[in-house]
Amino acid sequence: MAGMDESLVAWLDEEADNLDADTLHADALPARLAQAGLFAVGVPEGEGGDGRALSAAVDVVAGLAEHSLSAAFVYWAQRAVIACLLASPNRDLVRRLVPDLLRGRLAGAPGLSNAMKFLGGLERLRITGVAAPDGMRLNGTVAWATNLRRHGFVAAIAVGDEHGDNPSVFALPHDAPGVARESDLDLLALRGTNTAALRLSDVALDASWQIHPQARVFLPGIRPAFIGLQCGLGLGLARASLRSARVALAGRPSVLSGDIDALDADIAAYSQTLCTGLDDGTLRDRPRALLTLRLRMVDIAAAAVALELQALGGRALLRAENGGHARRAREAAFLAVVTPTVAQLNGDLARMA
Ligand SMILES: Cc1cc2nc3c(=O)[nH]c(=O)nc-3n(C[C@H](O)[C@H](O)[C@H](O)COP(=O)(O)OP(=O)(O)OC[C@H]3O[C@@H](n4cnc5c(N)ncnc54)[C@H](O)[C@@H]3O)c2cc1C
Repeated sequence: MAGMDESLVAWLDEEADNLDADTLHADALPARLAQAGLFAVGVPEGEGGDGRALSAAVDVVAGLAEHSLSAAFVYWAQRAVIACLLASPNRDLVRRLVPDLLRGRLAGAPGLSNAMKFLGGLERLRITGVAAPDGMRLNGTVAWATNLRRHGFVAAIAVGDEHGDNPSVFALPHDAPGVARESDLDLLALRGTNTAALRLSDVALDASWQIHPQARVFLPGIRPAFIGLQCGLGLGLARASLRSARVALAGRPSVLSGDIDALDADIAAYSQTLCTGLDDGTLRDRPRALLTLRLRMVDIAAAAVALELQALGGRALLRAENGGHARRAREAAFLAVVTPTVAQLNGDLARMA
């Protein structure tokens, strides 16, 4: 990506396989991203950001994903929590948390899949809040959350009422009594992302931690940032795979060349449509178009990884000689199952038709 910190890029290229396969650098990763000033990209100046449009943050996600999807996904997680807070009417909370999130002193973990699936009719709410004299008492679990840095995080979570309905959105501080971060999930890929479950036992949170009283109203508002930034994940991954495919062909004429050129052109057109639509607001007003682009992102990444496989031939299956292809194949599989998953997107799009 043009303009991305060279030492960060060198570190990512060096450590991409480790970031995917073990947890060694999980705590260092958000700090490296913060050092490069990336979390302020696409955040309004008045909130401490660089004042650029949201598409600039999509470019960051894509730029990182060209080197390591683990890094790109951790970046997305932190930016998603920042986007949640920037959309909150609770200005005191914004002032309290956003500066530390922008500087990477605090890690942000988005735990909102459950709320999204609840609103899509796919899952019950897994956290219940009951009114208490000191605010709310929360009980339940977050099955998955990324960027749960061991020495400090804030998670964005949805909390249902005592009937498991009417979710609101809260910021959950890691050190609230009753919050337990489980061990890292035993993942096949993206292991350096601090991804784990959270267990809440009688956690007391007062209204000062409330991001929004109504998830039903709040979540559609943050959709362009949430989903739009995710589109960068597949764009970057696809670019890396096509680059690797070209290197494998080494300039020789190939039956694959036409497909590689066509997908390159598709990616350029896709990127233009996405960035324009995010920046001029048309994708905010057209959720169906946004979800269609999000679905297409998974296809583009899968197609690029498949072309890379064909260009590499047998080398793709050699541990020492696949040039990152094996990792990218696992990363592409992740794109199909991160919320909104391909199944969820197809369901949502069918409902909207
Ligand atoms: C590495 C990693 C990191 C993650 N980080 C986070 C995180 O930070 N925060 C977070 O909240 N979550 C996170 N997740 C969770 C993730 O985003 C998804 O929520 C989860 O992986 C997908 O849910 P699911 O397994 O129920 O799959 P789904 O695709 O939701 O469900 C699978 C099943 O449900 C059916 N189904 C799905 N949609 C429909 C529909 N509309 N109608 C009928 N049937 C349907 C499918 O057919 C299929 O049988 C992470 C996951 C991974 C792997």
